[in-house]
Amino acid sequence: MKKYNFNAGPSMLPREVIENTAKQILDFNGSGLSLMEISHRTKDFQAVIDEAMALIKELLDVPQGYSVVFLGGGASLQFMQVPCNFLIKKAAYLNTGVWAKKAMKEAKLFGEVVEVASSADANYTFIPKGWSVPVDADYLHITTNNTIYGTEIRKDLDVNVPLIADMSSDIFSRPVDVSKYDCIYAGAQKNLAMAGVTVIIVKDEKLGKAPREIPTMLDYRTHVDKGSMFNTPPVVPIYSALENLRWIKKQGGVEAMDKLAQQRAEIVYNEIDRNKLFKGTVAAEDRSLMNICFVMNEEYAELEKPFMEFATERGMVGIKGHRSVGGFRASCYNAQTVEGCNALVACMKEFEAKA
Ligand SMILES: *Cc1c(COP(=O)(O)O)cnc(C)c1O
Repeated sequence: MKKYNFNAGPSMLPREVIENTAKQILDFNGSGLSLMEISHRTKDFQAVIDEAMALIKELLDVPQGYSVVFLGGGASLQFMQVPCNFLIKKAAYLNTGVWAKKAMKEAKLFGEVVEVASSADANYTFIPKGWSVPVDADYLHITTNNTIYGTEIRKDLDVNVPLIADMSSDIFSRPVDVSKYDCIYAGAQKNLAMAGVTVIIVKDEKLGKAPREIPTMLDYRTHVDKGSMFNTPPVVPIYSALENLRWIKKQGGVEAMDKLAQQRAEIVYNEIDRNKLFKGTVAAEDRSLMNICFVMNEEYAELEKPFMEFATERGMVGIKGHRSVGGFRASCYNAQTVEGCNALVACMKEFEAKA
């Protein structure tokens, strides 16, 4: 039976990305050696990292004066690396979910943290509006897509202080005005590649301002200066990112990804709103195009498990909601197909008809 992968992360990748990466793992560029057993210092791997960086700059239209860095450690390492490099005295954070909260916790190790707004009291079912940022904050940190709760900030905010964003679960799903940010970071395993690499885009002139000794490996300048080759980078994950970046470009770039994201989300949200069994969990205007969260309507609460079984029998994978929300979550990252969304909707309709 055909499987439709709605996993929240690590998540679905285009088949050709997986196949092309697998081929290079077996025989890298016809060398007779695996991608896993060559030196990262070889000319052939340098070409991989160069092309991946160039494609990131091209696809996101990264302006002059910014560097792209590949690091290990996941987005979670960035929760501390960002304040370590950018927090001078005080940083502002918008608390929109678990990941934002974890980022705040780490920032407190480096200075004062101001929570500009929070939707924690409402289980993060909306993006707070109408807040302001202290003018003396060194930066404002936001999480553009809240993977667990299914809310998203889909435009580049205008704020009075430098902006830093965790884009782990929506990077490359829409055009971004990078010039509005001092730093963007994203763990790869949601929307970009296999797990194991984190992409960081930093504004060069903002580095080296923090009043502390930064351990070599945590200083972004180390990796900017060495083109992410200070130490051994995650070779295979970077290769899979390259394949996916090529794929995104071939589809028409981030504009095409944006259109597709809207198309997929419309299909699924329309059905959630139409179907008497289900309801969405977040404020309509803040709905994420990447992680679509929904639960059973109260009067059908006992049908949650049966629907899960019904959908699983029909090939749906990974639609169980995060434990802090319950219900269901259909993650629709770049590789998700309209066909997959239609298959999920067909399941919901069929189940409704027999309920
Ligand atoms: C998954 C996720 C993280 C954590 O990523 P790791 O790479 O596992 O550390 C952080 N932020 C967001 C928005 C995420 O979706």
